[in-house]
Amino acid sequence: LLSYAPPLVGSTKARIYTPPLVTGRRGPCGCGCALTKATSLGFAAVEFAEQMLGIELIPWQRWLLIHALELRPDGRFRFRTILILIARQNGKTTLVEVKNLWKMFVLRVPLVIGTAQNLDISEESWDKAVEIVDSIPELRVEVAHVDKTNGKKALKLANGSRWKIAAASRKGGRGLSGDDVNLDELREHQTWESWAAVTKTTMARRNPQVWGFSNAGDDKSVVLNDLQAKGRAAATNPATADPTLGHFEWSAPDDVRCTCARADGAPHALTCRLQDRAVWAMANPSLGYTVTEEAISSALSTDPDPIFRTEVLCQRVPSLTPKWQVISEAKWIGQTDQLGERPTEVALGIQVNHQRTHTAIVAVGLRPGGGLLTSIVDYRPGTHWVVERAAQLKKEWDPIAIAVQDKGPTGSLVDDMALVGLLPPKKRDAPDRGDLAVPWSDDVAAAYGMYVDAVDQGQLWHLDEAPLNLAVADAEKRTLSGATAWEYRPATGDPSPLLASTIALWAFKTRAHLVVSSDPSVLFF
Ligand SMILES: [Zn+2]
Ligand SMILES: [Zn+2]
Repeated sequence: LLSYAPPLVGSTKARIYTPPLVTGRRGPCGCGCALTKATSLGFAAVEFAEQMLGIELIPWQRWLLIHALELRPDGRFRFRTILILIARQNGKTTLVEVKNLWKMFVLRVPLVIGTAQNLDISEESWDKAVEIVDSIPELRVEVAHVDKTNGKKALKLANGSRWKIAAASRKGGRGLSGDDVNLDELREHQTWESWAAVTKTTMARRNPQVWGFSNAGDDKSVVLNDLQAKGRAAATNPATADPTLGHFEWSAPDDVRCTCARADGAPHALTCRLQDRAVWAMANPSLGYTVTEEAISSALSTDPDPIFRTEVLCQRVPSLTPKWQVISEAKWIGQTDQLGERPTEVALGIQVNHQRTHTAIVAVGLRPGGGLLTSIVDYRPGTHWVVERAAQLKKEWDPIAIAVQDKGPTGSLVDDMALVGLLPPKKRDAPDRGDLAVPWSDDVAAAYGMYVDAVDQGQLWHLDEAPLNLAVADAEKRTLSGATAWEYRPATGDPSPLLASTIALWAFKTRAHLVVSSDPSVLFF
């Protein structure tokens, strides 16, 4: 038998975008929106690209033109500012060429301005556009003048329309009145000076658009980060937002990151979240058209994680959130177990994260060299596998207890656990091995205190596992009915390995002496 996997293709629709103002019946766009030729000039731009320029657009390019060129009832463009976030190599240059040439030849706008922190970048679309025009006789005859002087390239048509390249600087575009302004590589703008200078050129125009393009930035990308925050807010809550700001973002969700413990230079595990093809497709809409899975796969194995995440997944790698707020990094590293053995006489903790993307099962038990040791048993996507796995672990490992919270994200599994015989003790003060340990809210706070103390006092050791290291680094605390507990939704990261480890420690400390009779050494860890 031949097995056939359909080719993986990039996501046509942006992951986060400003919805059209027009609502109603599904229109010819095909994405489910109601835009038509009467309410978006994008259809005309697409026709121009395909019939005049002979360019076959990738579906996302067509979709973006249709959405970004939405019209208001008075016939002017809805969006004055359009922010496009997209990973490199996805065909952004082609989009700029098509859109600018259409504005010049069809709309006959007086002035298109191209600018980027690096002139070569803004000249790239211009150079290609001039080449295309030159190759099409109907268009070539409309050209009045081409200036190819480096640093001041310009294309002028007989209808008066011009496309000029300007430096992205405080003086960029000075004295010009732009109808369509393109700022590439917005992530490189570390001050507002050039954004202000170039976008000011549109102030006096009747129907201007400013297009900003970028892949994800870092904390220094002040302009991009500010616009992205506004754009995302507008996309999520259009009713209260500036309707003239259009945000179109192809990126991986913020919480996607490496979830395997890869050593330097080693490949990521097949189960690592960074291997998720669906996530690649969200940030790379040209995947399967001009971008190949092999190319991304090779970047994943060779790039350092922060590079892969910004350049390929179009994720801003956060560094503003302070790390190690609860447990100090030095203390945690100091508690790394060097023996590499697994704990014995374990209690297990199970925790689903609040996004329900992952579940962690973590063991805490006796460390062969003394003290207690925590070790990740499973950290995998979803929740479908958890109940069966817990039943199997109960049978094979004979754990002291299986700790699970019946409130919060893991609560949904408790009924199914009962069906496979995973139940709380019949008598609360006389548990058997393998019974569930279900913490009440006082216990959750006590468990937090136990965990922080056990690390601080050098009692609890760990095996340097990446998901737990990351969870501890990102951990935050919250107030829980007057006491303190772990924050279940920290600003970044997935706390589930830490939460599972914490209730496993609590279950061990509160149950071990009740169920272990043969080996009293358990009581003297
Ligand atoms: Zn649509
Ligand atoms: Zn990984």
